[in-house]
Amino acid sequence: MSNTFDLLLTGGTVLNPASGLRQELAVGITDGRIAAIQSKLPRENAKKVLDVRGCYVTPGLIDFHVHSYWGVNPYGFNADSICLVSGVTTAIDAGSSGPVNFLGFKKLVNEPSKTRMLAFVAVAQHGVLNDPGELQNLRFADPEAAARSVKDSPNVGVGIKVRLHKKGVGDNGREALRLAVQAGEASKSPVMVHVGDTGISMEEIVGTLRAGDVVTHCYTPQRPSIVDESGRLLVAVRKAKERGVIFDVGHASGHFDFNLVRRAMGDGLLPDVISSDLHGRMKQPGFGIVGDLPTTLTKFLALGLDLDQIIAMCTINPARVIGWQDRLGNLEVGRDADVAVLQIVNEATKLRDSVGGEMTAEQRIAARWTIRGGEVFPGSC
Ligand SMILES: [Zn+2]
Repeated sequence: MSNTFDLLLTGGTVLNPASGLRQELAVGITDGRIAAIQSKLPRENAKKVLDVRGCYVTPGLIDFHVHSYWGVNPYGFNADSICLVSGVTTAIDAGSSGPVNFLGFKKLVNEPSKTRMLAFVAVAQHGVLNDPGELQNLRFADPEAAARSVKDSPNVGVGIKVRLHKKGVGDNGREALRLAVQAGEASKSPVMVHVGDTGISMEEIVGTLRAGDVVTHCYTPQRPSIVDESGRLLVAVRKAKERGVIFDVGHASGHFDFNLVRRAMGDGLLPDVISSDLHGRMKQPGFGIVGDLPTTLTKFLALGLDLDQIIAMCTINPARVIGWQDRLGNLEVGRDADVAVLQIVNEATKLRDSVGGEMTAEQRIAARWTIRGGEVFPGSC
């Protein structure tokens, strides 16, 4: 171990759900990598010291569902500007590119961004569109080419995306889902499925998915829901969860309902992954009810999950879903220095959902610093 660090984080509590670590430790960073994690590290030789007392030092957060293909896709926004002030070191674009324009995503988003930008590639040739939707005509589906995009770029493409809402696929939901799973099989990667306002049932959707495939917008108030009319979790959803189908929050403006989350979590359906689904077509000014990923995490703190669970759901859990657990989501010596410094702020915070629901949280999760590959970015709050 070198005694000289480019950056030393001292006084914070390292919270690393992947290893169960929760302890006050110093973290030394050299050449963009984690060089040491120990109870005491010499500050004298560190080029820069960040005193992070009162904060949690976690793996860099992964926002599993965003729309970052700015200037090309109608949902795109400049995700770097939000990620780097909110603890997010990896963001995964959810289908803004398809096989026709995925190389552009690599060149225009993945390569120049400071945030590590990965992508689920749409089974639809041009990625997700607004109106008309991307698979209103199934001739726009190209599962072979989507699979090839993922296979040929394993450092960027991590899975296949399909949306099944009626505006996107008309009456083609069943076939669109089948083609997406076909692309997932051909690329040996997970399929992320948008639910909410679909023409096929939740039973059919989760029954078609393989273990490791992802239901995004899992707590959407739109139909079909994961709960029945009386608010009980569907048996098919429980079975899907048990056999390894992944449930991702994908908040966005339209897909979060406090009461539905309470009922579903009460029946055992905790999210595997918490994501924001930030995009450039939010109805409210700025990012409205979503805010950012820490605000979305704060909602789950207010709904009763503990911080360790929540951090797992935006670090090691999403890393595992895309098979990147050896690269992301775990704070270990030798890894890229992707780190979030988070603080629990004791301050009443009003939180809103998609159906007019409000909660006042007594605490909120704030990002103080985002460290990406050793480079330090101050938080926005
Ligand atoms: Zn989305």
